[in-house]
Amino acid sequence: MSTARHEAARTVATRTVRVAARPTDAQGRPQRVSSLFGARTFSMERMKERVPPEIFARFTATIERGERLERSVADAIAHAVKEWAVEQGCTHFCHWFHPMTGSTAEKHDSFLWFDRDGRPIEKFTGSMLIQSEPDASSFPSGGMRSTFEARGYTAWDPTSPMFVMDGSAGKTLCIPSAFLGYHGQALDEKAPLLRSMDALSRAAVQLLAKVGTATARVTATVGPEQEYFLIDRAWGSLRPDLTIAGRSVLGARAPKGQSLEDHYFGSIPPRVLAFMEEVETELHLLGVSAKTRHNEVAPGQFEIAPIFAEANLAADHNQIVMQTLRKVATRHDMLVLLHEKPFAGVNGSGKHVNWSMQTTQGENLLDPGQDPEQNLRFLAFLAATLLGVHRHAAVLRASIASHGNDFRLGANEAPPAIISVFLGDFLTKMCDAIAAGTVSNLPTGQALIELGVARLPAVAQDNTDRNRTSPFAFTGNKFEFRAVGSSASISFPTTCLNAAVTDGIDQLVAWIEEDGSKDALMNAVRRAMVESTPVRFDGNGYSAEWVVEAEGRGLPHARNTPTALDALDSDAARGLFTRHGVFTADELHARFEVRLEQYNKKVEIEADVLRALVDTQVLPAALSDLGTAATQEAALRAVGTRSTASEDRRMRLVGLVDELHAARTALEGTLSELGDGEHHKATENVGVIIPAMERLRAASDALEDFVADGTWPLPRYREMLFQL
Ligand code: ADP
Ligand code: MG
Repeated sequence: MSTARHEAARTVATRTVRVAARPTDAQGRPQRVSSLFGARTFSMERMKERVPPEIFARFTATIERGERLERSVADAIAHAVKEWAVEQGCTHFCHWFHPMTGSTAEKHDSFLWFDRDGRPIEKFTGSMLIQSEPDASSFPSGGMRSTFEARGYTAWDPTSPMFVMDGSAGKTLCIPSAFLGYHGQALDEKAPLLRSMDALSRAAVQLLAKVGTATARVTATVGPEQEYFLIDRAWGSLRPDLTIAGRSVLGARAPKGQSLEDHYFGSIPPRVLAFMEEVETELHLLGVSAKTRHNEVAPGQFEIAPIFAEANLAADHNQIVMQTLRKVATRHDMLVLLHEKPFAGVNGSGKHVNWSMQTTQGENLLDPGQDPEQNLRFLAFLAATLLGVHRHAAVLRASIASHGNDFRLGANEAPPAIISVFLGDFLTKMCDAIAAGTVSNLPTGQALIELGVARLPAVAQDNTDRNRTSPFAFTGNKFEFRAVGSSASISFPTTCLNAAVTDGIDQLVAWIEEDGSKDALMNAVRRAMVESTPVRFDGNGYSAEWVVEAEGRGLPHARNTPTALDALDSDAARGLFTRHGVFTADELHARFEVRLEQYNKKVEIEADVLRALVDTQVLPAALSDLGTAATQEAALRAVGTRSTASEDRRMRLVGLVDELHAARTALEGTLSELGDGEHHKATENVGVIIPAMERLRAASDALEDFVADGTWPLPRYREMLFQL
């Protein structure tokens, strides 16, 4: 018997490697990465070449001061970028923005216009560049915007370069933009991120002044490591759960799983390598600094990481990475899965957000240095980060909460759902000593010597390997926020982290000013170390003891998304975000509502897909197998033979089918009783629906391991995960 599944297997077995030609130079030789890098972006250098020098100078000055762009400057830039884009083959432009869905949106307009004599021309003005008005009504607003004022507008973010997106025949100029409501409310992910970067900069510049460093601006730097799964597209077309929900809602565990641990950093399969090469070329052309590629822990799992950049650029680039992975995978007859947990029983995917702060002079504030001043500065920013993360741990937990991430957090493969900070042996001892006051009676200079800060630069080597179980780990000269989900936009977690640290820095500055003594800075560092002691944890974050201990320490522990999201609806969160001008209370509430609604929608979609799969595929296959078993048994009896194996098999099938049916009926019951209201639904989803789905899945998976292979319609884990 041959099913669509068997045909897919044949298709997969005969796939060839697609090799995309690399862009070549005039002599036909493959171009170096450094010469093709950014070719499809309107970078600062390109702008400089194409606009009059005084326009360029006014533009860069405006950006540095964060002011509004003058009309004449905008018009000149618009003209230059249009000419460049049309030369590149662009027919259209779009404001490319990040609504609260977590992905991106774009509305295309062509450059076509008519001049006074009615002749067609290409036209693009400063006002078209700066602002556009998409119909905002179909994007989530979390109740911020009632339908009678559906207007919203997108506004160009001049700190993120415009880029050219390929179509099949034409091309589109993309203008990275923020998305705002008519009254200036942030309807997107970018506007708050930019605000949080401004807040962090303002606070950090103040703290730097206290340690004698003058700088114009401090930037949050971010480098997100993106994990993903790849499977053959032939399997995907037979698994509506993967294509619709992004994860398999059923599927028996593969016999091999990842138990042999032979995949991590293993040699990259040729088809995958060809895919990665094509992805990287596309990214390099778009100015995205794809740097690292490797196999990840689970079979079929891989990673791509860039060189870090300013937070808002990193966030834009990560969206481009996710889009490019999807687009190029199709060309290679593959399906990329960005979901946090596409397959049960093997590792899920995260997005480690590496984060630090950098001055205008390019100094990394979390880089411990050689001289005492630099070390004091390092300690101050470390203390402020610890304080901010400790005070706002619940908000940080909420910032990474999603239905997908619930399958991963705390599941012995990913950081637990408790926010704690890993510092490594040396820094831990140092923080302990500071907190315990061992050196507090010494003058600051002497205290630093006693603390052994001269050894600080060695810290970088001390701990990179030992942070796997921590959600927020110091890795030598930056922190790594490891709990972020692989499909998430990094904007919101980064916004929350920036805000939390801003708050920690402001507190340090306030303490220093109150104190006024010459050791005020060291005293403030000590207060911060004392207060944040509970959030520091270097032990095994996967262990059951940690959960108990963390609760004893008073650290928040939200086990699922709805519980975690409550932190966004709290006075503490409203205080944090309004204090620093990152969100108004309304804007914050909108994030809470949108995230809760998304959670419910995702569960609902999964429940629907699961029902459909069971009704239309699993149950028919099981009944058909049962029918065959019964017929075989009758045939055996007819010739006077009794087979215990045959009888056992039939009875076992009857039992498994009965349980499937019971679980299916139970799920139906819980779904039909589901009331209205997002909050109520979320509670029901956590308490009743998800457990009912798990029961149904278990019943289906038991059947998958028993039903005759020729009858089983759905691609199996072992087929999907091991055949690229
Ligand atoms: P590790 O192996 O310890 O994770 P890597 O050097 O591989 O460290 O860096 C991982 C990611 O961290 C990369 O994307 C890198 O660009 C980023 N990164 C490095 N330094 C910084 C920094 N100062 N700020 C933000 N991200 C950084
Ligand atoms: Mg890392």
